[in-house]
Amino acid sequence: MRYVKLPKENTYMFLERLKDWGDLYAPVKISEKFYDFREVDDVRDVEFHYNRTIMPPKKFFFLPREKLFEFSISKAEYRETIEDVKPFVLFGLHACDIFGLKILDTVYLDEFPDKYYKVRREKGIIIGISCMPDEYCFCNLRETDFADDGFDLFLHELPDGWLVRVGTPVGHRIVDKNIKLFEEVTTEDICAFRSFENKREKAFKYHEDWGNLRYLLELEMEHPMWEEQANLCLACGNCNTTCPTCRCYEVRDVPNLDGDTGYRERRWDSCQLRSHGLVAGNHNFRPTKKDRFMNRYLCKNSYNETLGLSFCVGCGRCTYFCPAGISFVENLRRILGTKEPKCPPEISEEIPKRGFAYTADARGEDL
Ligand code: SF4
Ligand code: SF4
Repeated sequence: MRYVKLPKENTYMFLERLKDWGDLYAPVKISEKFYDFREVDDVRDVEFHYNRTIMPPKKFFFLPREKLFEFSISKAEYRETIEDVKPFVLFGLHACDIFGLKILDTVYLDEFPDKYYKVRREKGIIIGISCMPDEYCFCNLRETDFADDGFDLFLHELPDGWLVRVGTPVGHRIVDKNIKLFEEVTTEDICAFRSFENKREKAFKYHEDWGNLRYLLELEMEHPMWEEQANLCLACGNCNTTCPTCRCYEVRDVPNLDGDTGYRERRWDSCQLRSHGLVAGNHNFRPTKKDRFMNRYLCKNSYNETLGLSFCVGCGRCTYFCPAGISFVENLRRILGTKEPKCPPEISEEIPKRGFAYTADARGEDL
């Protein structure tokens, strides 16, 4: 990997130069407490120190609402309406959000590529920046707190600038075209990078092993947490829309008043809404709020075979933006037994161990 240094005094010039590569979007403070990715005109509006945006970067690739095609019944024809997508630069993604996109890639690109998602992924340049966790972050437990790939450039904060990792040929070209803005990395920079990473590691609130969580969730279907917390849930769907890896959508046809033409669109859906599991014949696969609540926890903690990670990247949005004050991470810790152990102490201590040890042992299998 190539490493260069961007001195602090060149940061805004660098952001200006990024506009040569497409429309620039970056985290911007939109109210006292909230940040969001917005198109940036004045680069001094870019926020470098934020914990999470309201909407994750998925909104640039998997649009909240998207027209798929227009149709005419009388002519028995349809016309695809995929827009001309302009190149764009998405600046300021944290590692967890980069992993969020990598997870969406496995869904929307790997087996049956989704052309609407694909064209935007091809047009988007990704630039990451380092961050310091707050009490809602648990990406360290999900192993998504440091991105090895999935970005064109990644900026790590130094006291006097940024240590930049170059991740792709596009990243090389951006650096090469603006080489006068960069310097070589010095020994002091490496020490500052190490120091930042050590401080970041210590700043995480949780330091425990969640390797067995997905099995325990399946085993603990009768745990009182489910009923109790599902009763608090307002079924608003905020946790889905703000999640960087939630990807469900619904499709509907919108007829025009002429009774002949219309268009088909897709829009984000939420598994917390009653309509999500409703099918023809008025059958609902998840008729109760508890069914839907449990489904989200099981889905987010299931295993992405391609990446070897869970579908939750630990960004903390679903807790931070939940109007009912439901803490996803604390509920998971209840299931793990780290908050209210229900097994004898020597067994409770076993629970946080990584991997198959606990379940394989319970089945009497060799490890
Ligand atoms: S954000 Fe909170 S209240 Fe809304 S659906 Fe999710 S868990 Fe329920
Ligand atoms: S489940 Fe919650 S913490 Fe995990 S990635 Fe989604 S919003 Fe973030």
